[in-house]
Amino acid sequence: MNTQEYIQQAEQDLLHTYNRYPIILDRGEGMYLWDTDGKKYLDFSAGIAVFALGYHNEAYNQGLKDQIDKLIHTSNYYYNIPAIEAASKMKKASGMDRVFFTNSGTEAMEGAIKTAKKYAYMKNPNQSYEIIAMNHSFHGRSMGALAVTGTKKYREPFGELIGTVHFAKYNDLESVKSFVNHKTCAIVLEAVQGEGGIFPADASFIQGIRQLCDERDILMICDEVQCGMGRTGTMYAYQQYGIKPDIVTTAKALGCGIPVGAFMTVERAASLQPGDHGTTYGGNPLAAAAINRVFEIYEQENILENVKLAGEYLGEQLDKLTEKYQCITEHRGMGLMRGIEMNISVLDVAKSALKHGLILITAGTNVIRMVPPLIVTKENIDEMIGILEVCIQENCSHK
Ligand SMILES: *Cc1c(COP(=O)(O)O)cnc(C)c1O
Repeated sequence: MNTQEYIQQAEQDLLHTYNRYPIILDRGEGMYLWDTDGKKYLDFSAGIAVFALGYHNEAYNQGLKDQIDKLIHTSNYYYNIPAIEAASKMKKASGMDRVFFTNSGTEAMEGAIKTAKKYAYMKNPNQSYEIIAMNHSFHGRSMGALAVTGTKKYREPFGELIGTVHFAKYNDLESVKSFVNHKTCAIVLEAVQGEGGIFPADASFIQGIRQLCDERDILMICDEVQCGMGRTGTMYAYQQYGIKPDIVTTAKALGCGIPVGAFMTVERAASLQPGDHGTTYGGNPLAAAAINRVFEIYEQENILENVKLAGEYLGEQLDKLTEKYQCITEHRGMGLMRGIEMNISVLDVAKSALKHGLILITAGTNVIRMVPPLIVTKENIDEMIGILEVCIQENCSHK
C-alpha cells in the first residue's frame, strides 16, 4: 500500500478522535524525522515533549534491547531491580519520598488525586472533599484527570465526574484563595502550563499556593508531566521557584518513548496503603530500564546544561521574531518549552511548516508550541527560525 492508501485505511479503522496531519512518520535520527515518502523534517515537537534524547539514541536503544533480552514484565507482586533503581533516581532528582509507577501521565494524575482524597479521608471520613484546579490547565483524559482539566469543552460531554472541582484563575492567588474552604483537599497546577498555551507560573503565585497549602493542610500537586524532566532547565519546573510540592506527577520524557509515568509523594502525603491502588504494567522492568537509561544519559550528555544554553538562545530568537511580525502577539515560556501567541490561524502555520519540513504543534487556541528534543543545538534553532519565517511570511505581514 502507498501512503495515501494507508491513511485511508487508518481513517476507516481508527476511532476518529484526532484530526491527524497527513503524513506517516517512519524513522528518526537525532533532531530529524523522515516520513514514508522519504521527506525529512526538523522536529520541534518531540512527540509532544517526549523524546528528549533525540531519535535513534544508541545508548538508550541498547539499554532497552538488553532489558528485553533479560526480562520485560513481572507484575507488581514481585520486586524488580530496574524499578528499584529508577525510583531512587527519581527521589533524588525531585526531593520526594515515595514513587508509584504508572503507564501514562493521566494515570499519574489519577493516583495523585486518589492520594489527596485518601489523605483528607483519613483526617475525617465523614465529609466530601473538593479540589482546586486552574483555568486552561491540562491533566489528561480519564474521568479523574479530566475532572481537573480547565478546558470546558473537554469536560462537558462527560457530565458529573469526581465531585466538586473549582477552577481558579492561573497566576491569581486571590482567585485560588476564594475557593479554599474546610473541604479543600488539594490544589493542582502545572508550574508551566503546556497544552493550555504555555503559561509559566509567577513566582509569587506558586509560592503563595505553597504557603496556603501549609497553613490549611492542603496537598499541593504539581503536574510535571510536560514541564518536568529538564524541559525548563531544572529537572522539575517547580525547582525554579524554590518550592517543593507534596505530590508530583511525571511522564512524557520520563521514559523517552516507552509509555511510563509516575506520581511521587512526600512521606506525610503517602496515604495510599495496600489495596488502595495498583497497576499490572506500572514500573515493569522494561519501562523502568527506560527511565534508568534516560537519567544516565541526561547526566552523560549534560542535558540540563544544553537546555539552559539552547533555551536562552531560542528565547532570544523568538523575542526578535515577536518584534518583527505583527501577527505574533506574545512570546512566553521557559527553557525549551516556548510558545508564540498569534493573531492568525496557528493550525495554518503548523500545516505550512510541515510542508516546509518543520514539525511544530499548537497549544491552546492560538499558540505555536515549541517543545523540541532537549539535545537541540543553536544550528537547529537557526534552521527552525528560517523555516518559521517563511511560513509566517506566507500568512502575515511585518510590523
Ligand atoms: C500530556 C499531559 C498529561 C497526560 O499525559 P498522558 O501521558 O497523555 O496520559 C497530563 N498532564 C500534563 C501537564 C500533560 O501535558
